[in-house]
Amino acid sequence: KLFNEVQEAKGNIRVFCRCRPLSKAEVLDGCTTAVDFDAAKDGCLGILTGGASKKSFKFDRVYTPKDDQVDVFADASPMVVSVLDGYNVCIFAYGQTGTGKTFTMEGTEQNRGVNYRTLEKLFTIAKERSETFAYDISVSVLEVYNEQIRDLLATAPTSKKLEIKQASEGFHHVPGIVEANVHNIKEVWNVLQAGSNARAVGSNNVNEHSSRSHCMLCIMVKAKNLLNGECTKSKLWLVDLAGSERLAKTDVQGERLKEAQNINRSLSALGDVISALATKSSHIPYRNSKLTHLLQDSLGGDAKTLMFVQISPSDQDLGETLSSLNFATRVR
Ligand code: ADP
Ligand code: MG
Repeated sequence: KLFNEVQEAKGNIRVFCRCRPLSKAEVLDGCTTAVDFDAAKDGCLGILTGGASKKSFKFDRVYTPKDDQVDVFADASPMVVSVLDGYNVCIFAYGQTGTGKTFTMEGTEQNRGVNYRTLEKLFTIAKERSETFAYDISVSVLEVYNEQIRDLLATAPTSKKLEIKQASEGFHHVPGIVEANVHNIKEVWNVLQAGSNARAVGSNNVNEHSSRSHCMLCIMVKAKNLLNGECTKSKLWLVDLAGSERLAKTDVQGERLKEAQNINRSLSALGDVISALATKSSHIPYRNSKLTHLLQDSLGGDAKTLMFVQISPSDQDLGETLSSLNFATRVR
């Protein structure tokens, strides 16, 4: 149990770094690999910054382009399982567009990612424990775009603005959103597909749109201990963040500029919250963005947080790679 073993010593934030393979197009373009994986087994990564210089980074895990979805989930699964023990958990993927955030979280039908595998695992364990616990699992799928929350499971569009409220027992929630009760993995797949399809609606370029919004899957677990009647409620967030790349000033105007500012603001807010937690600051600025406000229950306290920092191996992406790794180092 990787996570629990190291937890005492290091607090509740883990950082896993994952590098995708060079794409065919990059190979044809003559791009070379600027990442050294020699010490990847020890969580170390070297970035070749030109000439003989190398910058080193250390993370809880480093995945090379050869590591697959099964390898990645094997390390993440102890964390997701802890949601059944009453912990709030947040897993998110950070990085430049095109580095594999969606691949890691959503995956493809042949190569399913963390989202699907998590729910599959939750159902398996819930079944194993069914003599002692009754679990009730529901799922919401939200998108945050330009600091506005959209319910991707809503069947009819509503004009009502979705807001974050704090319930009496302390939980943050968004009144009015769909919480789809799921009983098996087949139902989950349908819900995930519905969310994914809804993302496309109203945008003329789906990929571009999804790289500029945060896609957030919320899994709520109610557990009842059948032996003593005790009930717990916990929440797991699985987040595919908007692309972290900085756009050239000359490229952005109007709507794009507003998008870029909102992304920048929310990703900075996320970095600020996590580093405030890491330094045990007395004020944690959750309210500075919709993203951090939504995640509040699952960041800090005894919640467990896992960040995937996704990078490209290409020498062409060196600048963005260093900026992502620096972000990840700051939160660690
Ligand atoms: P992002 O969501 O960060 O913009 P994507 O997940 O869309 O990036 O990945 C970009 C492309 O790279 C996709 O075609 C994806 O299938 C591929 N890819 C990403 N990570 C991997 C990986 N670890 N192994 C194989 N292909 C990958
Ligand atoms: Mg994506």
